[in-house]
Amino acid sequence: MTTPQMAVMNTKAHETAAPAPEVTVSHESREVLTISNVSKFFVRANGAAVPAVDGVSLSVRAGEFLVLLGPSGCGKTTLLRCIAGLEQPDSGRIDIDGKTVYSSVDRIELSAQQRTLSMVFQSYALWPNMSVFDNIAYPLRNRKIRKAQIEEDVHRIAKLVGIDEIIGQFPNHISGGQQQRVALARALVSGDALVLFDEPLSNVDAKVRKDLRIELAALQNRFGFAAVYVTHDQEDAMELGTKIAVLEKGKVAQVASPREVYQNPASRYVATFIGSTNELEGTVVAVDATGLEIETPLGVIRSERLHGEFAKGDEVVAIFRPEHGHLSPERPGTVNALKATFRMELFSGSHAEQVVTHNHKVYRVWHGKEQEHGTEAWISVAPEKVHVFER
Ligand code: ADP
Ligand code: MG
Repeated sequence: MTTPQMAVMNTKAHETAAPAPEVTVSHESREVLTISNVSKFFVRANGAAVPAVDGVSLSVRAGEFLVLLGPSGCGKTTLLRCIAGLEQPDSGRIDIDGKTVYSSVDRIELSAQQRTLSMVFQSYALWPNMSVFDNIAYPLRNRKIRKAQIEEDVHRIAKLVGIDEIIGQFPNHISGGQQQRVALARALVSGDALVLFDEPLSNVDAKVRKDLRIELAALQNRFGFAAVYVTHDQEDAMELGTKIAVLEKGKVAQVASPREVYQNPASRYVATFIGSTNELEGTVVAVDATGLEIETPLGVIRSERLHGEFAKGDEVVAIFRPEHGHLSPERPGTVNALKATFRMELFSGSHAEQVVTHNHKVYRVWHGKEQEHGTEAWISVAPEKVHVFER
């Protein structure tokens, strides 16, 4: 069990006791969190200051679920810690629930305890020597709330989160999924408008994880809090987020709905980080009013989804998703006919993926039939499904 940092977040010196969480959906859409141009530098051993968070601006409304998505080291945790007050940014401004908690210009910096938010960590950070009941009650006890009220609040939350039968157990006697629920209950009992999550599902196995995602989404819907959820897992992001902010080296590469990020990625980085892709590098050989043509190792590919302005001779990358590709043993009569070699079929239950290669590079498409290993295979894809980015 790691340090119960969670408790730090909930040991809030609230001037007045927070109201008990309402079991109703909040349909108001006020901004609960506004991050404006926040940067945070860390000084490396060689003395160089490297930005972990680089000019980030984001906002989250009540009932919104913002996912911060990106590979390890892109600044997700640092940004979350800046919001929580566990890390001090170098510049920018952060407002929580209409109150400025950090401003480099106005020299405002509220401590973690002064910020009205709750946090759920990857390790859950439950107190091992306290029962489930006492863990959930902890943030309320710190607020000098009447004993009877605490009893009532804890039981109500435990029931909602589905852990009322294990209320007397200790954290090391319950499953990972149950521990996760306890951590969630402890975050929700305070009734804060903002809840921060740092990879809370990463220690849970795949099946429980799927169930917990649904529970988490349902609870958020019911309580109406604003959520900021850090993950490197694109499935978490797609299923939980109402908005995904894809981070790249401390910067926001794109912020949009999961659908938009998937279907209309803003860059090659976003396209390849979310979902699987086939990438073909090449040179633009023709440009017309509706699209362009690119010479690639597999043949000429036409694209009608241009992300930028391109001219003949430009070095670009064409990207399409496996679900948009079709495979056939004979050259198809379509605009895009790309020649490769058949390798294998990968059956995953819900669909079969046909795998082909060209010059040791692998391409995957979902439509088509298994062929003999090593035979000629042609990929076709509609030009409007082919995205073009600069290289
Ligand atoms: P993520 O959560 O996306 O994996 P982090 O926010 O933990 O990324 O880290 C972002 C960058 O900042 C990384 O390059 C990391 O090495 C660096 N970093 C994070 N915390 C510190 C620290 N306390 N001191 C120095 N560098 C740090
Ligand atoms: Mg992290």
